[in-house]
Amino acid sequence: MGQSKLILTICPSWGPELPPLGIALLKSSLNQHDIQCDLIDFNIECYNKLKHQDRIRLWDKSNLDPWLCPQRFEHEILPLLEPLIDQLVNQLIAHPAPYIGFTVLDSNVWVSNIVADRLKQHTNKVLIAGGPETTFKEPRVKISKSFDYYFVGEGEQAIVEIIRWLDSNKNKPSPQGVYSTMGELCIDRQFVQSSLNQSVVPDFSSLLLNTYVENALPIITSRSCLFKCRFCSDFKSMGTFRKLSTDHIVAILSHYYKLGYRKLWFNDLLINGVMEELCSAFEKLANNGQRFTWIALATPNKQLTSTHLNTLKSYGLQTLNLGLESGSNDVMKMMKKGFNQKYCSEALQRIFESKINTQLNIIVGFPGETEDHFLETLQFLDNHKQYISGFTSINSCIALPGSFLSDNKERYAIQFPENQDPSLWFSVDNTPEIRANRLSRLKQWIQDNHYNIYASNQAD
Ligand code: SF4
Repeated sequence: MGQSKLILTICPSWGPELPPLGIALLKSSLNQHDIQCDLIDFNIECYNKLKHQDRIRLWDKSNLDPWLCPQRFEHEILPLLEPLIDQLVNQLIAHPAPYIGFTVLDSNVWVSNIVADRLKQHTNKVLIAGGPETTFKEPRVKISKSFDYYFVGEGEQAIVEIIRWLDSNKNKPSPQGVYSTMGELCIDRQFVQSSLNQSVVPDFSSLLLNTYVENALPIITSRSCLFKCRFCSDFKSMGTFRKLSTDHIVAILSHYYKLGYRKLWFNDLLINGVMEELCSAFEKLANNGQRFTWIALATPNKQLTSTHLNTLKSYGLQTLNLGLESGSNDVMKMMKKGFNQKYCSEALQRIFESKINTQLNIIVGFPGETEDHFLETLQFLDNHKQYISGFTSINSCIALPGSFLSDNKERYAIQFPENQDPSLWFSVDNTPEIRANRLSRLKQWIQDNHYNIYASNQAD
């Protein structure tokens, strides 16, 4: 491989626990085509360089508002990051790579924009934005025009085409999914999917792996989801449901094992669709003496059979994070969760009997949720306390851009305030205040029952 063509970077804020999987997958894909790429995890650099108290405050997942609100970002975060941003910009300018790619999401869009703006003043390197912030038109309008291009879709295949296209001086049409920021940003764009075989094994080699909080590596074995919950945009931002083969999973995990890792965090939206492959892969690995402990997300329905659960437990599954969202049958149905109270109750019991921990996600205030529905959720939690280990994500319902809810405002009779903030939608019987009140009472229940909360979109 020759000189580095591309730097891929992710700005704060993003989870400091594990190395970023997305850019490691892109690097792996480029490796296969002999295109050299370097990774810079600016997020972890900032996390490790800031004072302990700032780090704890700013990377608190139950209070991302200072990263999201431009005014709070400017006053509370930017002064702390200024010197580090300058260092990064100088590093990027001095680097020989002519192209720089940014993973942009709602919690790092302001830092990414500042880095892009400063780079644009001093270099003519090509700047490309990709990631969740560029997928849907509503958040995309926030990206700076200092980026030359934005990309919509999964980048593993496209990144190779983009580099070749840029290298050819753009003497042919741009690759699918690549758009100039000079054009309209607020426009629906088709999502470009990649073949999952493009990146065989994520390549973390240019990251300092000992700088992350957890001694674990991330893996993703499937894309998108089997379900289409009405409030969710995640499944849409990953194309159609696809999964890795058993052998592919074995190849990735054998590599991780050789790197010395024994702990995994699955990034799959849920593992319900890949249970057979996981059982076979972990069996093969165990036969080679390679054992892991791991955590993953799932949905509590009939797909979680006792046989699968017992097998996966024997191969190191410690915790399942379940997107319960509500304990009310009516709300589960309105959300199109794909399970009901009975399925969920039985799944919680099976998971418990398999000695796997259960973490729950809850959303309060979906359109149509009444006070009685909310009380039903509290009652459901009360009735299943013995099966619950903790709470991962406790949120007030947001009309996320790209979700069915956001795309069908008339159907749900919801309106937005003038600033279009998707968290402040309201209807005749559902307001941000009503949702905040329910969320506070849910938090009180969680506190009274001595559980922890990992993340919430409403600060205390
Ligand atoms: S909320 Fe979870 S189960 Fe529902 S569509 Fe999204 S990822 Fe799938």
